[in-house]
Amino acid sequence: MLDADFFRRWMTATAASVDREAARLTDLDSPIGDADHGSNLQRGFVAVTAALEKESPDTPGGVLTLAGRQLISTVGGASGPLYGTLLRRTGKALGDAVEVSQEQLADALRAGVDAVMALGGAAPGDKTMIDALVPAVDALGESFEAAKTAAEEGAAATTPLQARKGRASYLGERSIGHQDPGATSASLLIGALVEASGE
Ligand code: ADP
Ligand code: MG
Repeated sequence: MLDADFFRRWMTATAASVDREAARLTDLDSPIGDADHGSNLQRGFVAVTAALEKESPDTPGGVLTLAGRQLISTVGGASGPLYGTLLRRTGKALGDAVEVSQEQLADALRAGVDAVMALGGAAPGDKTMIDALVPAVDALGESFEAAKTAAEEGAAATTPLQARKGRASYLGERSIGHQDPGATSASLLIGALVEASGE
């Protein structure tokens, strides 16, 4: 079972990973965006870490809803409200339980991804974070490691796609040939589950 400490470790591992990869995320956001994705998420996850230290929620749902609120209020770019919605909706789906199973996390995360699709209007294949998140959620029933691999493959598979949502879509066909920054950061978020679990 996964308790609030697991979810805290998930968020701090994501923060560390975003920090390590910030330059790469911003580089990916240069040719098909405005070169701020790394710094956007860095700012957001610094706020997430600080809020979790200060408030120390005692349920999985509490950790994720607090984290989501921080992302919405501190990240200026499109990705802030989208990731914030992902975590808030996932946290809401986990309710007040003190511990949740990996299967409950998979179901809750699916509700979170559905909320991101409803908010941003993106579907799989539109070259967004959705292209990493959907395969990750599908694989989560198997293992965290499988979800990580699925997310990384999903992010890599955005390279030949033409963007149909977000800033990159303004480039039309010129968005082809570049990996999507948001799909890449989504693979960091999912990869951090492996670190949190010590799998
Ligand atoms: P901005 O585009 O406002 O500068 P960021 O650079 O932080 O914001 O984030 C860009 C990423 O957000 C994209 O790479 C993409 O994965 C994701 N994104 C943008 N628009 C959408 C959307 N409508 N639905 C899902 N993801 C989106
Ligand atoms: Mg950007």
